[in-house]
Amino acid sequence: MAAKIIDGKSLAAQLRHSLKTAVAALVARGVRPGLAAILAGDDPASRVYVRNKARACDDTGVHSEIHELPENVSERTLLERIARLNADRAVHGVLVQLPLPRHLDAHRVLDAVSPAKDVDGFHAANLGALVQGRPGFVPGTPAGVMRLIEHAGVDVAGRQAVIVGRSNIVGKPLALLLLQKDATVTICHSRTRDLAAVARQADVLIAAVGRPRLITASMVKPGACVIDVGINRLADGKLAGDVDFDAVKEIAGSITPVPGGVGPMTIAMLIANTVRAAELSIE
Ligand code: NAD
Repeated sequence: MAAKIIDGKSLAAQLRHSLKTAVAALVARGVRPGLAAILAGDDPASRVYVRNKARACDDTGVHSEIHELPENVSERTLLERIARLNADRAVHGVLVQLPLPRHLDAHRVLDAVSPAKDVDGFHAANLGALVQGRPGFVPGTPAGVMRLIEHAGVDVAGRQAVIVGRSNIVGKPLALLLLQKDATVTICHSRTRDLAAVARQADVLIAAVGRPRLITASMVKPGACVIDVGINRLADGKLAGDVDFDAVKEIAGSITPVPGGVGPMTIAMLIANTVRAAELSIE
């Protein structure tokens, strides 16, 4: 039987709808949530992501600003801009779009964002809080993945969850969120031996690699919940995930499409974090 398609687009729309109400309540108290995005350089994909985030802000009534800096921006100029936004009372969330130009130290830049405005959840303090299970901002993509799994009606407690990809922004924080929900978690990466055999153990399989159609049907346990984080631009201009969707949907129990799965949820969770940052600023 073909898998249930997990519709991230409509789930994100529902979430944004409820966020509108939260924004209206804040505006009634004299605070409009604000998000500042810093775009350094001219990576075309980053430009699209930043524009989509600003559009989602408009849609929910959140103020947004895009700060464009040239590819050759100095670290000092970038850090000064972050410091200015940290001090700006109209801005509750500050994000630095990744990847940064190569001459910049991403750790130093991300740690310059005030943890209270770090709505991407990439500051060491917020990632550390996640490790310890303490309150903090959780990165949008892993948070969105958790919502999608829940929406699919899958309880991960005691089940095998396999994540393919060990990045700081997706794979590792997602492993911590799944652990918090009592899943048994395995993280695979480029040096994993026999990825297919490990992946086939998964009740919940998450692909976050950046290789089109790496996950084939023979790597999926029948009935598994498959979440595709990958966004890959093919030679013909079309988008593809890390999962061979057409073949895997015949085996899986539920599956996210690309586009229309994780992507919209990532943005909705970012807006949720911005609204939360604004609420915390007046609590
Ligand atoms: P990354 O590029 O930082 O790391 C890729 C990971 O994949 C590494 O941990 C590497 O070890 C692993 N890997 C590489 N080749 C492998 C192989 N053959 N087998 C197993 N593992 C392998 O990853 P990232 O920044 O987490 O991004 C991953 C993908 O997710 C990209 O396509 C990116 O565009 C996408 N992404 C999507 C969203 C979204 O909102 N949907 C957000 C972030 C990233």
